[in-house]
Amino acid sequence: MKRKTIKYYSTNLNSPEVSFSEALLKGLAPDGGLYLPDSLPIISTRELGSYPCKEYSEIAYNILNKIIGNEIDKEELSKLCADAYNFEIPLEKIYDRKYIMRLDQGPTASFKDFAARMMSRLMQHFLSHKNQHVTILTATSGDTGSAVANAFYGLNNIKVVILFPAEEVTLMQRKQMTTLQDNISVLAINGKFDDCQRMVKMAFLDPALSDISLTSANSINIGRLLPQSVYYFYAYAKLATTTDEKVIFSVPSGNFGNLMGGLIAKKMGLPVKKFVISTNENDEVPEFLHTGKYKLITPSKNCISSAMNVGHPSNLARIVAFYGGVMDESGNVIKSPDLNQMREDLFAVSVNEEETKRTIDEAYRKYDLLLEPHGAVAWKGTKEYSSRNKNIRPAKPLYISLETAHPSKFPDALRQILKIEPPLAPSLLNLENKPEHFHSMENSYSLLKEFLIKYHK
Ligand SMILES: *Cc1c(COP(=O)(O)O)cnc(C)c1O
Repeated sequence: MKRKTIKYYSTNLNSPEVSFSEALLKGLAPDGGLYLPDSLPIISTRELGSYPCKEYSEIAYNILNKIIGNEIDKEELSKLCADAYNFEIPLEKIYDRKYIMRLDQGPTASFKDFAARMMSRLMQHFLSHKNQHVTILTATSGDTGSAVANAFYGLNNIKVVILFPAEEVTLMQRKQMTTLQDNISVLAINGKFDDCQRMVKMAFLDPALSDISLTSANSINIGRLLPQSVYYFYAYAKLATTTDEKVIFSVPSGNFGNLMGGLIAKKMGLPVKKFVISTNENDEVPEFLHTGKYKLITPSKNCISSAMNVGHPSNLARIVAFYGGVMDESGNVIKSPDLNQMREDLFAVSVNEEETKRTIDEAYRKYDLLLEPHGAVAWKGTKEYSSRNKNIRPAKPLYISLETAHPSKFPDALRQILKIEPPLAPSLLNLENKPEHFHSMENSYSLLKEFLIKYHK
């Protein structure tokens, strides 16, 4: 039976629909919108029932094949999945049916490896078939950059340029980007993450750079989001007691790519009762859900969960589109989404710095649970949700809280709060002594433009 071909449309509704490989290689749609699939396959209960005995890479293949299988050879896709996902995904029971999913065992010790490793392999596959070359331009608040640099390092058809806010990434995060060289260039911008993101977006829309095939590896790329739906299925398959048990996920959110992965999984049939959206003090999305009014935060607030210091999440337009609305890239709501349905599916909570620190401390003392700031924000989110929903049925529902980075990526916070030295993630060993290479740049788009033109001469 031939399946319907999935097409990708722009959230601004003003670009032609494209195939997956086109959306993947373009990144941003020509009208400045974000690509979304016009339909998604359903994972049947029977298939879901087959997942518990499958490996992560097999589940990834099964799901991705249903979405992009008509654009890539099955055996090739299966090989790429096995190659991308060769690390553990620990599911740690804390108490009752509350679990932590640790997405921190990849090569850069953050969950962004899940997206970046698959996207890089898919891009290299499609580019080499077309004999084309691209440059990936990406802004990072820390973990995207290192995951992208690592995932694309050494690929033949792809150059990478990464912008990061000079004062807002940890030494470890920086070293993961700056110690590679070869096809990876790194720019330290004297500004905030949102400045880096704005410059990247300007470059994409700049006709003067049209000779350079620029593309994106931020969570604005649909090629990152689809692979991120897989771990929701995986965790559910391993932990649910029946194939219709409902699960509550808590997702520590900044640009909301992670949450989009979850929403895609739900749309494909995963029985999710609720997504707890856990943010730090950058609470524009929780406010939006509560009040129906969207007000972005500039400049974004500096919190210790630094990868979530986002005042205007790039994936919000996609979430709005999922619920029938339209939001442009500046955050204007052109058409209101179905807020009631959003509130039905999503429970949003903003966790302040004080609470984040207290949660890290309490989790460690009470449950011997070592969390870094992002995972702590999520864990606190599950607590908030369960304390406000005491009469929920079943009495002890399945909770899965996402831990998105390895605690050793945030040693300063843990030293200060717990007075311990978190054991180093295996992938971070040896980084200390490697020499760094990066350019410092003022917060000015014209300097970035000049750099890009010179770099491609
Ligand atoms: C990027 C990141 C997040 C936020 O994920 P989004 O997909 O941007 O919402 C959370 N935690 C860590 C450790 C991250 O690196």
